[in-house]
Amino acid sequence: MTDKQWVYLFNEVEEAEKNAGGTWDGVRALLGGKGSGLADMTRAGVPVPPGFTITTAACNAYLAEGEKFPAGMWDQELAAMKQVEQQTGKKFGDPSNPLLVSCRSGAKFSMPGMMDTVLNLGMNDQTAASMVKLTGNERFVYDSYRRLVEMFGEVVLNIPDEAFEHPLAEYKAKKGAKVDTDLTAENWKAITEIFKKVVRENKGFDFPQDPYEQLRLATEAVFKSWNGKRAVDYRNAAGISHDLGTAVNIVTMVFGNMGSNSGTGVAFTRDPATGEKKMYGDYLLNAQGEDVVAGIRNTAKIENLANELPEAYKEFMEITSRLERHYKEMQDVEFTIERGKLWMLQTRNGKRTAQAEVKIAIDMANEGLITKEQAVQRVTPDQVDTLLHPQFDSKAMDQAKGEGRFYAKGVNASPGAAVGQVYFDADTAERMKKEEQRDVIMVRPFTKPDDVHGMLAAKGILTSEGGATSHAAVVARQFGVPCVVGASDIRIDLERLQMESDGKVVKEGEWISVDGTTGQVYLGQIPTMAPRLEEQTDLLTLLNWADDICATPGIRQAPEGWPTTGLQVWANADYPKDAQRARSYGAKGIGLCRTEHMFFETERLPIVQRMILSGTSAGRTQALNELLPFQRSDFAGLFAAMDGQPVIIRLIDPPLHEFMPDEEKLLEQVIELRVKGETKGLKEKEDLLAAIRGMHESNPMMGLRGVRLSIYMPEIVEMQVRAIFEAAADEAKKGVIVKPEVMIPLTGTVKELEWIQPRLVRIAKAVMEEKGVSFSYKFGTMIEIPRACVTAEEIAKVAEFFSFGTNDLTQMTFGYSRDDAERNFLIKYVEEGILVKNPFQTLDRDGVGRLMRMAVTDGRKARVNLEVGICGEHGGDPASIDFCHLVGNNYVSCSPFRVPIARLAAAHSALKYKGGQVSAFEVDK
Ligand code: ADP
Ligand code: MG
Ligand code: MG
Repeated sequence: MTDKQWVYLFNEVEEAEKNAGGTWDGVRALLGGKGSGLADMTRAGVPVPPGFTITTAACNAYLAEGEKFPAGMWDQELAAMKQVEQQTGKKFGDPSNPLLVSCRSGAKFSMPGMMDTVLNLGMNDQTAASMVKLTGNERFVYDSYRRLVEMFGEVVLNIPDEAFEHPLAEYKAKKGAKVDTDLTAENWKAITEIFKKVVRENKGFDFPQDPYEQLRLATEAVFKSWNGKRAVDYRNAAGISHDLGTAVNIVTMVFGNMGSNSGTGVAFTRDPATGEKKMYGDYLLNAQGEDVVAGIRNTAKIENLANELPEAYKEFMEITSRLERHYKEMQDVEFTIERGKLWMLQTRNGKRTAQAEVKIAIDMANEGLITKEQAVQRVTPDQVDTLLHPQFDSKAMDQAKGEGRFYAKGVNASPGAAVGQVYFDADTAERMKKEEQRDVIMVRPFTKPDDVHGMLAAKGILTSEGGATSHAAVVARQFGVPCVVGASDIRIDLERLQMESDGKVVKEGEWISVDGTTGQVYLGQIPTMAPRLEEQTDLLTLLNWADDICATPGIRQAPEGWPTTGLQVWANADYPKDAQRARSYGAKGIGLCRTEHMFFETERLPIVQRMILSGTSAGRTQALNELLPFQRSDFAGLFAAMDGQPVIIRLIDPPLHEFMPDEEKLLEQVIELRVKGETKGLKEKEDLLAAIRGMHESNPMMGLRGVRLSIYMPEIVEMQVRAIFEAAADEAKKGVIVKPEVMIPLTGTVKELEWIQPRLVRIAKAVMEEKGVSFSYKFGTMIEIPRACVTAEEIAKVAEFFSFGTNDLTQMTFGYSRDDAERNFLIKYVEEGILVKNPFQTLDRDGVGRLMRMAVTDGRKARVNLEVGICGEHGGDPASIDFCHLVGNNYVSCSPFRVPIARLAAAHSALKYKGGQVSAFEVDK
């Protein structure tokens, strides 16, 4: 295996492509994101300092072989170094013309701050001395050398940061220097010596003077850091696989700290918070490496570079726009200018907010960089969810201002409203969230990778230092946590656990409101409100594109007669105002209207109870006649709201005792009357109590409800169907296009439908005749009992549509009652891996799903154009929607608020399986 290639020069990207299976994804896996980006830029003629990449495969081999370099790797690394020496005309470790390099980690997916870079490898006492002569810039040389000793000490030798920070602070204080730029060459030289002493004291050996020893140790340290705690935690949080490994990049040093015509910076090619097409970044003159990101010095805005170094700026703008066109993605770049000459040090797809994701996708499609399909695929359903999340109520915000509760302003780093209690360190923040269920705002001067667990637990993040590209900002954006950084008026006192701004003190545990959208911070709690979809024009455009994709005939491969478009999204809505909202959110029909809600309203409930208590059919009919006008007007409103679209109305489903007063409370009242010796009203209450007791069932969920109740007491559903068709007829006469669909719940055998459905159809026809109008309608059933799935072919001979009630179907299939399961054992089951997920949230494909597939397939044997939908909570869950696409549903129906999410998810499924003949069980779970 010695001939395996472990090392690739930046100009060997073609070889890497060949050895990685010919795909760019393969190259990224082999060379890591950073390495593949550097190689790709080199190929495109972008100025990248010469260098090479040691592969992720080498890292994996190193870790697998008990921390030993795989055979041949070190020799290849030395040979690559020789090549770089030739390319640069310098020599590693040669005092007369020293080559310096950086050693940078880089896995396939970027993991901000997880693995640290060491700059200036190759410096030692000798090269430093000769570099002073070569550059004539002693300050620069010793600034660089002390950086190497410090970074090498911290990153490679694992000496704690404080061991260097304390002596530096002490030294600065002694010299009266406020910022680093106040320090002279002499000072840096002295600090270098101090740092070398720190190494000796902490490790018992000297900082290695041999450059190759430095290189070897640094390479190993990168490999090892793959399994460091911070890296492992981050991968767990972000769902990145642990077996990818990291590559190591060795890059010729370029220097941003060589004076005022040098500098370093980071930039996004579009605004990562809003998505606006505008270069967004920071830079610092006369600075190196991490200075910009660390937020130690105040940075300048990238636009300003046009005045300070116009040539370099022009080239930078030209290169970055080329990179964006090449990757068809917003880029996040790092650059350094050495004495006027621009070098690119990194490019990658930039992290961004949900809002920016949508805007960039739309803009790039309009610019012709990507297709509409790609734009739709880029945005995730979760991001849409984020966009529909709360913002601060602007009136309440103005009021808070008026009350003098404005606290501070910083950089709006990650949008959204967060209200919570202040905690000043990650562990406490995490504990308060987990153990006390508090809403937490994590406040820090700045954050580091060790703080990520607290940031993930927080509702919001606030820092007093750092800019839009600081660690806090990047992490917050990625995880969708509202965040304000660099609120520099705030002074945080970590010892007394409090902060102060403009004389106002906030102590640990006190409430603040953080607006990541505007960068403002307020004292106390400001109410939030849901953003209006109507105002989010980019999102609306994207969702319309998603609908167009789903509406494309042939996008779904399916048997003859089945739907070949994607899924439609309908909504569950009981009232006209819900139906209106659903429609404005893009629903194409009502998949479930629950009629029993309408029985609970105060003026109706006594009539309902009278109906239930009456012992005769005639008595029931009389009460029901009083209810009819109410029901009719409910339905009329729904039909008007859904003009032109189908409305599925489910006939009464719950057991009747749900409409009766609570048995225990009633018993108490009866006892009280008896004790007081009152007779007035006693008899009525006693009778009622006896009636309720007579209705008692030991397992109501499986008792007299649904279609069983309708067969037992048909008068109720007969009234409901009359109300539905009278309302539809009245609306139709007004010119509304009505499409009523009557849904019979809880069918277990076709005989039930054969008994009830013809009676109801007769009523429907009679009403249309009475009213002198006709319109199309359907009668169908909800499928929520396993027996119905198994006998679907018979059922579909009577039912014209199926709607899966997956809440009940899941309960019945598993034999769990949902409430008991979620309260008692479900979490344990998921933790123990007995269930992969809560089956009430994400459809269980292997069990419930298999029954669904059987029901659809068999049902369509009897009736090829059988309309199939789902109306359980699963209808708004992307993974469940995906399954509904695969089994051949016509639509999914979910809560109005989830309709936008479901529309996007439906389009994703349509595109994912486009053109391929798939069956519901061949695909990933
Ligand atoms: P990270 O993954 O944390 O961004 P990087 O390796 O990209 O780590 O770099 C850390 C900092 O050092 C960045 O600002 C980068 O631009 C800078 N840097 C890395 N290599 C060099 C080099 N060869 N010359 C100059 N600066 C470098
Ligand atoms: Mg970087
Ligand atoms: Mg049900």
